[in-house]
Amino acid sequence: MDDGTAPGTFLERWGEVSDLGTASAVLAWDQETMMPPRGQGGRGRVLATLAALRHERLCDPALTDVVEEAASRALPGSVLAAQVREARRAVRHAVAIPQALERATAEHQSRCLASWQEAHTADALGAFADDLAEMVRLRREAAAALVDAGIAAHPYDALLDEFEPGATEADLAVVLGDLQQQLVPLVAAVGELDGAIDDGAVRGELPIGAQERFARRIAERMGYAIDAGRLDASAHPFTTGFGPGDVRITWRADEHDLRPGLFGVMHEVGHALYEQGLPPELDGTPAGGAASLGVHESQSRLWENQVGRSRGFWSWALPMLHAELPALAGTTVASLWPALHVVRPSLIRVEADEVTYNLHVVLRFEIERRLLSGELEVPDVRDAWDETCAALLGVRPAGVADGVAQDIHWAMGAIGYFPTYAIGNLLAAQLYSAADRAVQVTDAVAAGELDVLLDWLRREVHAHAGVLPVAELIERATGAPLRADDLLAHLRGDIEAAYGIDLGTPGTPDAS
Ligand code: ZN
Repeated sequence: MDDGTAPGTFLERWGEVSDLGTASAVLAWDQETMMPPRGQGGRGRVLATLAALRHERLCDPALTDVVEEAASRALPGSVLAAQVREARRAVRHAVAIPQALERATAEHQSRCLASWQEAHTADALGAFADDLAEMVRLRREAAAALVDAGIAAHPYDALLDEFEPGATEADLAVVLGDLQQQLVPLVAAVGELDGAIDDGAVRGELPIGAQERFARRIAERMGYAIDAGRLDASAHPFTTGFGPGDVRITWRADEHDLRPGLFGVMHEVGHALYEQGLPPELDGTPAGGAASLGVHESQSRLWENQVGRSRGFWSWALPMLHAELPALAGTTVASLWPALHVVRPSLIRVEADEVTYNLHVVLRFEIERRLLSGELEVPDVRDAWDETCAALLGVRPAGVADGVAQDIHWAMGAIGYFPTYAIGNLLAAQLYSAADRAVQVTDAVAAGELDVLLDWLRREVHAHAGVLPVAELIERATGAPLRADDLLAHLRGDIEAAYGIDLGTPGTPDAS
């Protein structure tokens, strides 16, 4: 069978594009973990050179020739057809944006990041207001170019496509609307019980080294292959993979609170298990990576929230916790579990709990789709943010550092990225329910047999890499399209149990 790997063909040429991306990723990992501060200038130049080379290779007409040659002999539904689909998508994105616009955006990005940093520190928009307005203008232009190139029918969809292929603003509006409608009254109800849960069970003197030993034991139990990975410290935890044989994670811990370190590691290991589980034979090919950022985030959220915050998990993990962290020796599952389910409306997304996190995403989705359509302009963005935040979460930012200027994403030009976080949460719950129906995952987790869940995920998600379109992957694995039901049921169940309250029947907001 000709799979396109014959010398001089499509996948061989693609390997170069992929290797240039991998080289950049290794340097970016180094930048975040090992590089001394003064390395910054030189590193920026090297990364820019690699990005330009990759872009050049992608836009090379000779690459398109071999892609189209492969397309002419790819059977519908074959892996080669998926390779062609993904290669075309990447090439179209690269070619559609005029070089002058690409360069202007890259140049503006560094200025915008600097003024964002200033705005963040000074808690005042200052120069960031104009820089953000220019970034929005550049992204509108890029979206229009992508629409012209036939990549998507609407500007927001065009930007989404880069992160979440096939997702549309219209579909997201429905599913995020469901989430919003049910979560807003729920968060308001729990807000009135603020302080009802004592989270002392997860606080104490918790030396970082001991937390790391515990986190490593959990990572190993989850199936993270350390001979194909690393764990290092970084300011912001992340996962980066250079093929299934080298998938690195980072973490950051709090000396007085178990949660950020442990759940950060479980989150990143969830991402890493996906990367380590991608088929080696597809490594470096267009369809060899993750299906989408939303699917990626579903893997991390599933291990972090559905597994790590479950009673079954703690029934066997608790003795390990006691052994490594004597300060928590008095902790029981009964005292620990509610502390993992505190719901508290707050202003900062990255510190938000499992429930309110989704409303932070809804807030950003609302603002950025209005910004992109021109319905909202940057001079009004702060007011719009504060009002929407108050309506969704019941809390109003005091400034911009805890409001509209808290995230780095828009300063980088990443508009259309935030929804992938919510897709991850929705899909995590949906996959867990499906796995529970298929292989009784809840029982397996309680027995400490985490491989039952990993095997299911390997089969249903990881093995497909980017071969199946995302919607098909979700339907096949869970029997339904992406929906809010499973996440809502999971969150309601946890809140009722943690707070000892009855939230009434879903969908009937008047029930008391
Ligand atoms: Zn993540």
